[in-house]
Amino acid sequence: MTERFDLVIAGGGPSGAAAAWQAAQTGAKVVVLDKAEFPRDKPCGDGLTARAVSYLQKMGLAHEITQFHKISGVTVYSPSQWELSFPQRPGMPDYGRTASRAELDTMLLKHAESAGAVVRQGAEVAGPELDARGRVVGVILKNGEKVLGDAVIAADGAYSPLKRGLKIDSDYNGYSAIAIRSEMHANRPDSDRFEIYLKLLFQGDQLPGYGWIFPMGGGRFNIGLGYVNSYKNWQSINATHFFGDFLRTLPAEWELPSVEELKKNKSVRAWRLPMGFTAWPPWRPGVLFAGDSLGAGKPVSGAGISKALESGLAAGECAIAALENGGPDDFTNYQQRMEAAWGREYKRGRFFNKLAGIPKVSETGLKLLDNHTFRDFLLKSLYKKAQSPSHT
Ligand SMILES: Cc1cc2nc3c(=O)[nH]c(=O)nc-3n(C[C@H](O)[C@H](O)[C@H](O)COP(=O)(O)OP(=O)(O)OC[C@H]3O[C@@H](n4cnc5c(N)ncnc54)[C@H](O)[C@@H]3O)c2cc1C
Repeated sequence: MTERFDLVIAGGGPSGAAAAWQAAQTGAKVVVLDKAEFPRDKPCGDGLTARAVSYLQKMGLAHEITQFHKISGVTVYSPSQWELSFPQRPGMPDYGRTASRAELDTMLLKHAESAGAVVRQGAEVAGPELDARGRVVGVILKNGEKVLGDAVIAADGAYSPLKRGLKIDSDYNGYSAIAIRSEMHANRPDSDRFEIYLKLLFQGDQLPGYGWIFPMGGGRFNIGLGYVNSYKNWQSINATHFFGDFLRTLPAEWELPSVEELKKNKSVRAWRLPMGFTAWPPWRPGVLFAGDSLGAGKPVSGAGISKALESGLAAGECAIAALENGGPDDFTNYQQRMEAAWGREYKRGRFFNKLAGIPKVSETGLKLLDNHTFRDFLLKSLYKKAQSPSHT
């Protein structure tokens, strides 16, 4: 007989693990299905914002995450150099961290398991299982096995097979970044700052994106870049070559490996980063979308880990609340939560993303940012806003 669960979660990354941990707290019978065997890598900058750190603390991982490298602020090159600090917010850390995704995601999944969730690794979801009315009632694994539940959370990442299987049309025109990164040794001192490089030129066009160097501690650095697909020629960019060009702009005395060497040891990987809500509403009967499958990446910065944790926790909580009060046909409680948390910011993000795709606009924006009078004015108002509880 097929085993039934209250909640079936496809994907055990940060959004799926957070959803599972949250739902399991209530005593619900939860299963997480991930196609990978952990520890597994995920192409990422490995940067945890202060808000991501705060969600990990809320999940009871405050002590465990002290092992990760601490980040005290951000150095931006636009191309002139300026400094940003994390805002001081009551009850919130004023620092970030960097954590390899192999370690972070394994820790999160174990945490969900110790809260009572069943974790099945090497379980690849092929698509949704529907009832006669089209409601999602479980998932079908690649080996043909069905895993059934009262509700399903699609936490299966940027290329979500559940979303594809359901042919989801979003009410909002979310968008995507293409990002590429590698971790490597650099012959330079360790640092406690995220470094962001805003000048990113492709055939003379300023791109809507940035390059980054995130210190991991112990002489290791995560280096990468990303750009959004509102730039009309984004498909002409060979991400690997472009990344190689970026590495060559960095100081020769750092003795960084070439992109060819990085390719050889398979540490350079590109991935999509969906933003601005690519699945809206964030649910359909029987299923809720969280993290990258929702298109939850933060507009402008693309920080997706804190958003995956926040939407995962909310999806876990709202799914159980709806199941207890009305059933799986209606998850508008989750929609309202997400709209209230990020609706305005993501709407602005969709608008600015379109503008930023025009190279002349991007170039002008960068010139303005490079002007310290304009920048001081802008940062003052952003800093004020950042101190409001909902901002990352
Ligand atoms: C290059 C790059 C750099 C980034 N840098 C940062 C950064 O520095 N900081 C930050 O905050 N965000 C960053 N992001 C964004 C961040 O990585 C994502 O937003 C975040 O991983 C989303 O978490 P998730 O749990 O929704 O999805 P994922 O982390 O992608 O997890 C999805 C899980 O689903 C599993 N899965 C997929 N398909 C199936 C299937 N068919 N069956 C079963 N399981 C399946 C996968 O194995 C995976 O474990 C970056 C993104 C990219 C591409």
